[in-house]
Amino acid sequence: MFGQAPKRSNNSKYYDVLGVSKSASQDELKKAYRKSAIKNHPDKGGDPEKFKELAQAYEVLSDPEKREIYDQYGEDALKEGMGGGGGGVHDPYDIFEMFFGPFNGSGSSRGRKKQGEDVVHTVKVSLEDLYNGTTKKLSLSRNKLCPKCKGKGSKSGASGRCYGCQGSGMRISRRQIAPGMIQQTQHVCPECRGSGEVISERDRCSQCKGNKVVQEKKVVEVRVEKGMKDGQKIVYPGEADEAPDTVTGDLVFVLHQQKEHPKFKRKFDDLYVEQSLNLREALCGFQFILTHLDGRKLLVKSDPGEVVKPDQYKAINDEGMPHYQRPFMKGRLFIHFNVEFPDSGTLSPGQCQMLKTILPSGSLQQLSDTELNECEETTLHDINIEEEMKQKHNQRQQEAYDEDEDDTDEPTMHRMACNQQ
Ligand SMILES: [Zn+2]
Ligand SMILES: [Zn+2]
Repeated sequence: MFGQAPKRSNNSKYYDVLGVSKSASQDELKKAYRKSAIKNHPDKGGDPEKFKELAQAYEVLSDPEKREIYDQYGEDALKEGMGGGGGGVHDPYDIFEMFFGPFNGSGSSRGRKKQGEDVVHTVKVSLEDLYNGTTKKLSLSRNKLCPKCKGKGSKSGASGRCYGCQGSGMRISRRQIAPGMIQQTQHVCPECRGSGEVISERDRCSQCKGNKVVQEKKVVEVRVEKGMKDGQKIVYPGEADEAPDTVTGDLVFVLHQQKEHPKFKRKFDDLYVEQSLNLREALCGFQFILTHLDGRKLLVKSDPGEVVKPDQYKAINDEGMPHYQRPFMKGRLFIHFNVEFPDSGTLSPGQCQMLKTILPSGSLQQLSDTELNECEETTLHDINIEEEMKQKHNQRQQEAYDEDEDDTDEPTMHRMACNQQ
């Protein structure tokens, strides 16, 4: 009923966009596009959507093959033909420049801006700062596009190509270093300082002296939030140095915890403290005050009858570090106990006797006289076990080295002797 021919969708839109008739010549199309594109160029404050539409229309109609498809079957047929990429495949700025060269003759255009570098500062913080949160004030200076000339550097907004480097920003100098030998070196053009363009003395902006940027001093308040970590980055997007035709990079602050805290160690969201007890405290109970990172005084005490063993850990819930961005949640505070035993000789035989009555007896049995008579006497020496192990290790290494030398020397010499025969 509807026939086999492809649907005739709208095939006059592109002509309407450019404001030409369907029979327009290539020359007419070009002129129409140029006129509208300049008028609508976003660099001149035009509507980017309209600019894109114009480019799309011109891209199709300036190509005889595409124009024929468009005339016959409309926009959709082109989209299919272009591999499903849809309209606007090409950058409208590319299309404009392809036919008319860079806008304004500035040599640069939108969409081709350089990416500016990030500026990174280190902010020193203490564990207290990371626990409580704080604000650090930093006085910084940065380059800003000159507000007077809007980063053009000139009063008129114009700039010319540098003669010294032909606009490349680099210069090559040749030097004869020996007869027939010429050394070539490339360096930044001193006249334009690498920018490739110059502004005449008279046209220079009075505020930035043609530099396009001015220095701005300002105090930045860096908010260190509760629970942040050593090495964490705080990013202020687009706040780095400004430069013409450049996407401004980020201003980045990296937290650096100055030094180990004398009392608290942090592991993720938990805190650790070391606490020494003497034998009496370990056996009979203890209590002490622990001043926290926010100045609160915590009373830490053992349960009645509790015995703490050397190297034992205990934990207090919700007294660790606040979680980042959820500071009402906190990790745990671990206490690592070290039990100090009395030095030898501090207990008199009488005191020992008293302790024996209190403390449970050991598993080492009482020995009878006959058993003792059958044994040989020994002497216990005090040693430093770490030292001993180190010495043993060094000794073994030396032996292995000596053996190695014995191993390799002999057969090599033997082989050499054979080869020589
Ligand atoms: Zn130059
Ligand atoms: Zn200026």
